[in-house]
Amino acid sequence: MHLASDEPDVQDAGGSAIKWAFAVYAATPDMARYYLTTAIDYVNNRPHLGTAYEKVAADVIARYHRLRGDDVRFVMGNDEHSQNVFKRARDLGMEPLAYCDRMEHEFRAVWQRLNVSFDDFIRTTEPRHKAAVQALVRKSFEVGDIYEGVYEGWYCVSCEAFKQEKDLVDGLCPIHQTKPDWIKEKNFFFRLSAYRDRLLAHYAQHPAFVQPESRRNEMLRLLEAGLDDISVSRAGQSWGIPLPFDESSVVYVWFDALVNYIAAVGYGDSSPAGTSAFDLWWPASLHLVGKDITRFHCVVWPAMLMSAGVALPACVFGHGWVLTKGQKMSKSLGTSVDPLDAVERFGPDPLRLYLTKEIVFGDDGEFTWDRFEEKYNADLANNLGNLVNRVTSMAERYRGSVLRAPAGSDAGVYSEQARAAVDRYAADGMDQYKLHAAAAEAMAVVDVGNKIIAEGEPWKLAKTGSTAELDKVLWNASEALRLAAVLLTPFMPASCEEILARLGERPRGPVTWADTAWRRQGERSVQNKGAMWPRLDVKVGVKSETNEPKETHVTDQPNPQPAAQPAAADGRISIDEFMKIDLRVARVLAAERVPNSKKLIKLSIDLGTEQRTVVAGIAEAYEADALVGRHVAIVANLKPAKLMGIESNGMVLAASPDGGKPMLVAFDTPPEPGTRVR
Ligand SMILES: [Zn+2]
Repeated sequence: MHLASDEPDVQDAGGSAIKWAFAVYAATPDMARYYLTTAIDYVNNRPHLGTAYEKVAADVIARYHRLRGDDVRFVMGNDEHSQNVFKRARDLGMEPLAYCDRMEHEFRAVWQRLNVSFDDFIRTTEPRHKAAVQALVRKSFEVGDIYEGVYEGWYCVSCEAFKQEKDLVDGLCPIHQTKPDWIKEKNFFFRLSAYRDRLLAHYAQHPAFVQPESRRNEMLRLLEAGLDDISVSRAGQSWGIPLPFDESSVVYVWFDALVNYIAAVGYGDSSPAGTSAFDLWWPASLHLVGKDITRFHCVVWPAMLMSAGVALPACVFGHGWVLTKGQKMSKSLGTSVDPLDAVERFGPDPLRLYLTKEIVFGDDGEFTWDRFEEKYNADLANNLGNLVNRVTSMAERYRGSVLRAPAGSDAGVYSEQARAAVDRYAADGMDQYKLHAAAAEAMAVVDVGNKIIAEGEPWKLAKTGSTAELDKVLWNASEALRLAAVLLTPFMPASCEEILARLGERPRGPVTWADTAWRRQGERSVQNKGAMWPRLDVKVGVKSETNEPKETHVTDQPNPQPAAQPAAADGRISIDEFMKIDLRVARVLAAERVPNSKKLIKLSIDLGTEQRTVVAGIAEAYEADALVGRHVAIVANLKPAKLMGIESNGMVLAASPDGGKPMLVAFDTPPEPGTRVR
């Protein structure tokens, strides 16, 4: 049975075709089984950050589904039957297949460094792929959807795509800015035009088929405008899969490549019906692809599947691009960033978190080193890393590294806040393919942990001797940290393993969704092993590169004065002299006691426009941990001074009573860091 020669199903009201269509096309995946794919990559260059972005995002989704207990199959691969690959191999004096073998190693090495956990890696030169392509093409030919004709028109070799006049900009391919070739050759065509109505019906019945919404609308407009038949073969080429009904032609590389998604799960193999992996895994739950190739995946591919009588995937998600200075990352345009550079410097996890948290999934996003380092400091050094440090160091200092949930322990509002964040992480984040929102919810649980410490003030409890209360605060903070690590596992698998290990949670099996429940009893031995993400010194001037508005405080400064006015005889100074002292509000990002000093604490502070290190003589009055998050007043334009070998760039203001302990200047409500004090 096939659909190709029928009227579109939806018009066949009440007939058997509708039931059949639902049986095959109602691509609601079994919840317990999750099959996802990424685009397969051309192998003419090593992957750049734009390519890596897609694989990392897919990996986050795959790991989330494993966390949920789903049976996951995550497939990636390489697209090798490209003329560019053939030419590149020839330029290097290599056999194309040998060249592809080498590139497979290079690609796999990059994916391994990024901790991408695919289950299968398919190459389009493999026999299983060839079998699937030929089976599908034969089916489509048999039902009359593939016919012979002559193609004449533009062809961009870099895109490996036929171009219509209207697609060109000043006669050039808009993507590659090169002049396409004019070709005229015998071609086989696929009757894509016949599938317009059926595709529209499928879109109507399955609103989640194409995501995000903006891409779905684009595709709908394209379908509504009508479809032309497309060429599916190239004549006179040797590098490719021969058409089963005309060995002198090879299957057009795009038609060939798309089939990898069914080939990888055994379409066209010889297993008896009902026993193959294909029956188990198809239809796919998700094809994750770049927004530039959604047309192939949302129009051509479903039509190919319909023609061959194969069910459609549940969802095609077209993600955006990683831009550098507003441009798509591209090797040929020289705007690419090597993902391994970031991995070399910081390991894979900060990059994985940046790409999935800072880019709204579906939209384009920027990558600059400055912004990356800024986010590393904010999310990892100052927030998550700080919580790890506080929980483990206070556990060590106050409780001999053993944390216990006191009997009848009640986490109160904190566990409720964490639970709500867990629910939103799944329902409003991951389950909607809003990876950025899910990452933000995980970080909200980190905030809960930091709040537990700030409000519980364990350093006070340690002094007053309220052990039960101290245990409760530290246990609850460690619980928030543990939950955050579970939720962040898909984003930062190695780091979260390390956090869980420091919390005494290892060895255990892999984390599961049940681990997102707040534990009200138990005991854990924690390890204090120092900073996981040491702070980076971010240079001043970062903002200009990120196109963020400049701070306006510069305009508050007085006009330059010709020379200092001498102080009046009574010791008073003029307002101009006072205004030379740049007093600012700063927020404390991190604090630690200076070793071998009774009085000094080293502070990392946020001045709104920059971050600095300041050394303050307040250790006799304040615990370092209690200072984090606090707003202080500082002299911002003091010349740097070295104290116990640490360069201090500013001075914290405090009242200094004779014979008493210093008291920090405080504010009724915390002003924005950088606010001028006068
Ligand atoms: Zn092009």
